[in-house]
Amino acid sequence: MESLTTEGLTPSTALPARLAAQFSVSPSVCYQCKKCSAGCPLTFAMDLLPDTVIRLALLGQEEALLRCRTIWVCASCVTCTTRCPNGIDIAGVMDWLKEEAVRRGVAVPQPEVATFHRYFLDSIRRGGGRLSETALMQRYTLFQLRRRPNLAELVRQLKLGWELFRRRRLRLWGPPALKGRQDIRAIFEKAGA
Ligand code: SF4
Ligand code: SF4
Repeated sequence: MESLTTEGLTPSTALPARLAAQFSVSPSVCYQCKKCSAGCPLTFAMDLLPDTVIRLALLGQEEALLRCRTIWVCASCVTCTTRCPNGIDIAGVMDWLKEEAVRRGVAVPQPEVATFHRYFLDSIRRGGGRLSETALMQRYTLFQLRRRPNLAELVRQLKLGWELFRRRRLRLWGPPALKGRQDIRAIFEKAGA
């Protein structure tokens, strides 16, 4: 695990209060048992452990949290939230921090993750509430190849796509339309505004 220093950063006294107002259980009840981190499957790729994220949030270390890798590595699997004996929504805190980082235009240390999130939501918006995995993966693969052109990777992806198609795991066309597409559009418009 890489480490991230918080030395010299100015604490934000407002952060703990904002988190307490945002979640039904305030992160301030954390007693650092570390059960969240012990169960997290992605700590190997994080620069801060989930319990450290909560600790730093309570210490108002907003700057460090908004630019850390952990919030982008987090897969929102909710294992930490389920394991927390105090009912703290750690996965929710990670999401909240991601949104805050995007809102404030903080440079994302894992740009591919942020792009994947954007393409994912865009695919749902375009599909009227349904995700086309094929379209999403095509778009994301092209993004990756534009960043780092790699013929071997392109061949690997094509082979993988063919295998999935052969095993009927890949739809070439989008999923059937949902009722209530207007409602979905309204949700996106409201969120965008
Ligand atoms: S599991 Fe809950 S109480 Fe324990 S360290 Fe994590 S957030 Fe804190
Ligand atoms: S939600 Fe994120 S932080 Fe929590 S266990 Fe899953 S990957 Fe780890």
